[in-house]
Amino acid sequence: MPGKIIIANWKMNGNFSLAHEINNYLVKMVNAPNKIIICTPSIFFNYFDHQKVNLGAQDISVIEEEYGAYTGEISGKLLKYSGCEHVLIGHSERRQYFNENNEILNKKLQNALKFNIQPIFCVGETKEEYDKQLTAKVLEDQLKIIKNLPVTDQLKVIIAYEPVWSIGTGLIPDLKYISKVKDIINKLFEKNLKIVYGGSVNTGNANEILNSWPIDGALIGGASLKLPDFKKIISFAE
Ligand code: PEP
Repeated sequence: MPGKIIIANWKMNGNFSLAHEINNYLVKMVNAPNKIIICTPSIFFNYFDHQKVNLGAQDISVIEEEYGAYTGEISGKLLKYSGCEHVLIGHSERRQYFNENNEILNKKLQNALKFNIQPIFCVGETKEEYDKQLTAKVLEDQLKIIKNLPVTDQLKVIIAYEPVWSIGTGLIPDLKYISKVKDIINKLFEKNLKIVYGGSVNTGNANEILNSWPIDGALIGGASLKLPDFKKIISFAE
């Protein structure tokens, strides 16, 4: 179904030849019916044609300043300067390994919005929370910082629903569960925000996910690193 958002999350992976190959493929897709966003490690940004490819970062500094003595940090200003129009915020791996809580994520969110970088805000429950039927509560808590934004800013955000139990496991929710999650999220906001699904999207399930689920697109980890698989997934949305 055209009009979908397809986001690649390379995580701490990739190499220069993959960046070249994906760039060469995407520059020819410039008029594609779907929006494809590539979130690579920042060292690859320069391998992409910034005019034709939608580039995303995987993180943004909590620091408000545009420049300064903050070794290792990349500010919103620098991301924008590198051609990034999008950024992942709140990915479960950042929450889990780097202890990113709502306070930190809110600063990152504000920095992205300040520099006109579209936040792709990731939310999702763990397996334990899923088993205890805590999904609604978890999503409400994680989405609090989006809810606190003015509606005009809320509408700039893409929500990526990524159940932690699905990331990299091969397990995906069913249509009923996704519909329930969509309702939970929509009830929190005055206007419906864009919602994409992430977690074990692959060539075997992408057709169903992109064409039968009530979502605006998909966020793809592992499968986005294999160009034939990634192309196939994109083709399901055409
Ligand atoms: C992710 O971590 O954002 C993700 C969607 O990973 P995977 O597709 O590999 O499950």
